[in-house]
Amino acid sequence: MRCPYCGGSETQVKDSRPSEDGAAIRRRRVCPDCAGRFTTFERVQLREVVVLKRSGKRVPFDRDKLQRSIDVALRKRAVDPERIERLVSGITRQLESAGEPEVTSETIGELVMAGLKGLDDVAYVRFASVYKNFREAKDFEDLLGTLSDGSPVPAAVPGPDAELEPEAPGRRRAGRP
Ligand SMILES: [Zn+2]
Repeated sequence: MRCPYCGGSETQVKDSRPSEDGAAIRRRRVCPDCAGRFTTFERVQLREVVVLKRSGKRVPFDRDKLQRSIDVALRKRAVDPERIERLVSGITRQLESAGEPEVTSETIGELVMAGLKGLDDVAYVRFASVYKNFREAKDFEDLLGTLSDGSPVPAAVPGPDAELEPEAPGRRRAGRP
């Protein structure tokens, strides 16, 4: 594994341990050339997944981008990181085992929303507000009607890093009712 800081090719594994319930191996590495430290994950990949975006563009599915979108939606929410890992892994496996040659960004968005809904209502609304690109208050009301405990909509709605919704014309962040 090449050092991400200096490009050195002799990085050493300092520590190796299972994470995500044994579904991944986490390795702490150090570079002897620049002393840079970084972490790598080894995971099972059942197959390559291609994402078909709304623009018609095809890109390889990127687990890290999925993770970032979910992390943004869950920012400052008290949710066990292990549960978040399981959500990301679960969505990734569903996509890998779907049997379709490619999946649409809509499909991924729906999976994320379904997962967040079970995890944290506020994160769900944050994600859905960006993903669905709400423009009208009524959409929000409809959505809130589906929540279990009537959690308030957060005042500011930060977007997932728009990975799942990059082609929306104009406003990238639809948001407030
Ligand atoms: Zn280095």
